[in-house]
Amino acid sequence: MTKKPSNYITSEENARIFDNPILEFLSKTHISVPLTIFFSSGIALSIYALLSLNIDLKFVIGYFLYGFIIFTLVEYLMHRFLYHLPGVYTEGKIAYALHGIHHKFPRDKKLLVMPPILSVTISSIILGINYLIFDLNAFAFTGGFLFGYAAYLGVHYMVHAIKPPKNIFKTLWVNHSIHHYQDDEKAFGVSSPLWDLVFGTLPKKKNR
Ligand SMILES: [Zn+2]
Ligand SMILES: [Zn+2]
Repeated sequence: MTKKPSNYITSEENARIFDNPILEFLSKTHISVPLTIFFSSGIALSIYALLSLNIDLKFVIGYFLYGFIIFTLVEYLMHRFLYHLPGVYTEGKIAYALHGIHHKFPRDKKLLVMPPILSVTISSIILGINYLIFDLNAFAFTGGFLFGYAAYLGVHYMVHAIKPPKNIFKTLWVNHSIHHYQDDEKAFGVSSPLWDLVFGTLPKKKNR
């Protein structure tokens, strides 16, 4: 477990990211904005593949699911190997700005959402790269990938903003809370425990 400074998790809700008041204002995006953008663009890309590109339904569904699963893998690998680089709890380090600040201010809602201008730009680049790999199947694949991103955002927001739900999301809620408050070398998957299971980082039952 990476050593956190004592009294690391602050009770203060809000971290300040930018000194500039305009940039600080732009960093505050309501969760409903990216959720709407990415759930609907995920579905729209798949419908486009089906109706405008006339791609067979079974290919659209197959590539959508493929994109979704690959998103959960990318999410896991980035969280485990990029966000938790050495220095994650040291102010001024890249990993701190990317992720350590979220561990320090877990209840700060604006740290749960990337500004849409940035996420939409990154998504367009991802669609371009996918097109080079998958040709026209890139639309359904990227649709599933963006749908996965929206699911990740929704689950992550839920874990930090509400009490544990009494439904299928409870496991995700418990796992991410273990990652934050008990052992930051476990439970890297937010939107699914699949890759924690595959790579052996699922928290043990007794921790739950
Ligand atoms: Zn983390
Ligand atoms: Zn979190």
